[in-house]
Amino acid sequence: MFNDIADMLEIKAESPYRITAYRRAARSLEGLTEDIAAVAERGKLEEIPGVGKSTAEKILEFLKTGTCAYYEELRKQLPAGITTLMTVSEVGPKTAMLLHEKLGIDSIEELEQAARKGLVRDLPRMGAKTEENILKGIALLRRSKERLPIGAVLPLSREIVDALRGLTAVKQISVAGSLRRMRETIGDIDILVTSSKPEKVMEIFTTMPRVRQVLAKGPTRSSVILDTGIQADVRVVEPEAFGAALQYFTGSKEHNVKVREKAVRRGLKVNEYGVFRVKDDRRTAGKTEEEVYRAVGLPWFPPEIREDQGEIELADRGMLARLIELKDIRGDLQMHTRWSDGSDSLEAMAKAARELAYEYIAITDHSQSLKFVGGVPIDEVREHVKIAKRVSDKAGITVLMGTECDILPDGRLDYPDEVLKELDVVVASVHSRMRMAEEEMTARIVKALDNPHVDILGHPTGRRLGLRDAYAVNIERLIEAAARTKTALEVNASPQRLDLSDTHARMARERGVPLVISTDAHNRYQLSYMEYGVAIARRAWLEPRHVINTLPLKEFISWLHER
Ligand SMILES: [Zn+2]
Ligand SMILES: [Zn+2]
Repeated sequence: MFNDIADMLEIKAESPYRITAYRRAARSLEGLTEDIAAVAERGKLEEIPGVGKSTAEKILEFLKTGTCAYYEELRKQLPAGITTLMTVSEVGPKTAMLLHEKLGIDSIEELEQAARKGLVRDLPRMGAKTEENILKGIALLRRSKERLPIGAVLPLSREIVDALRGLTAVKQISVAGSLRRMRETIGDIDILVTSSKPEKVMEIFTTMPRVRQVLAKGPTRSSVILDTGIQADVRVVEPEAFGAALQYFTGSKEHNVKVREKAVRRGLKVNEYGVFRVKDDRRTAGKTEEEVYRAVGLPWFPPEIREDQGEIELADRGMLARLIELKDIRGDLQMHTRWSDGSDSLEAMAKAARELAYEYIAITDHSQSLKFVGGVPIDEVREHVKIAKRVSDKAGITVLMGTECDILPDGRLDYPDEVLKELDVVVASVHSRMRMAEEEMTARIVKALDNPHVDILGHPTGRRLGLRDAYAVNIERLIEAAARTKTALEVNASPQRLDLSDTHARMARERGVPLVISTDAHNRYQLSYMEYGVAIARRAWLEPRHVINTLPLKEFISWLHER
């Protein structure tokens, strides 16, 4: 509301001093981590930087009535829609007025249409370049409201963290929020820092090349929108409170509610500044997360499971187990080479996998009927088995020969059993006729699971994050069939898939279904996708014993044979 007031005062060309005062108050409130109603109740509103007597009164009025008379009055004096237009990064108050007066534009949709028709460029002081920037600004605004797949966000966040970590002004640094919990989609990037020179850190953060728009810049919190449309926030916190802030901002909200309940029972309270004794407000913990959890009688929780899905209760019973980690993975069981639609040779994939310290890999190119991705005809598969054997003998890593065999619409497999029998690893997947009715699709896949040569069901639901929903399939019945036939279900680690999802992988685990984590790499670099799959597995509470490709080679081979 204060931002809107400042915008409106700007349009009315009021004193710059008053405009700045409202902006400053707005920025402080944006950075506030405590509920403003609680601050008001303590009578401490005027202690918030930038909040004076008159703004404090307006906050109280707002808390009481849901609005404020001054704000309502200003709005009445201005044409509707002006402040909406100004949320586009390229549109300031003067431009908004111009657009309204000359073209009658009052909404973002109208602005977009006018800009597409080339109407905006002809206004005074505008031009084609401004028009283009307005369209970009609208696209950016829309994207900043969506969640992005983690695969698009994690590398970006690492870029920022690495750049800041290099500064001598930065002491500790960590991402927080849903990104630290490794959720499959991410709303924004939260970064926490301790620093003796916060201004310096913020200067560098807000001027990074990927920054498209600075939303707020202050010594304790800055927010920007990056070129991909995602928002990134950096907060500088006290070293004594780093662990508490990290715990608080990592969430989830639901997990933290449970943590606070624990604290209350011990006469403590927890917030982002630390753990405090209620009776005298003395801080008893805050420097590290371990310390914070210990103070309330809990062990430290891996961020991936802080979702209030029973983890606190499990910890109470002392049953929190060690979750799977990247270093537990001993092999990758789905990858493609130039033999089908991959872009590297088998040798290159084997070499890259050996550098990851794997013991084994399975080469699983597409099967014969998938012609558009170079599916491999039968005589060539038999040839490949021999080549894989030769490479395996001298590559310093065991190269198993496999296939990602298509599950045909009627549930038969794309190679006859005699061929499947000759292969070490058979991954079966659906790539065609994905719009079947649920009943038909479920029966199709269950039939494939009943084929004794099938070891793994690849990307079981077929979803592509942000592109395509899962096909209609009864996941419970798939899990049941996998349990009955002892077929492994894949957690496909490709960040475009993440299939099974965390929820489904957990369901599978609970039913005793073996799982594998595979990258589905189509070139050697994508072997690094394994970390996304491991994150999903951790969110699903998987331990190494639940995941077949943590087995040493010999045991993995005997698992294949026993089946
Ligand atoms: Zn492929
Ligand atoms: Zn596939």
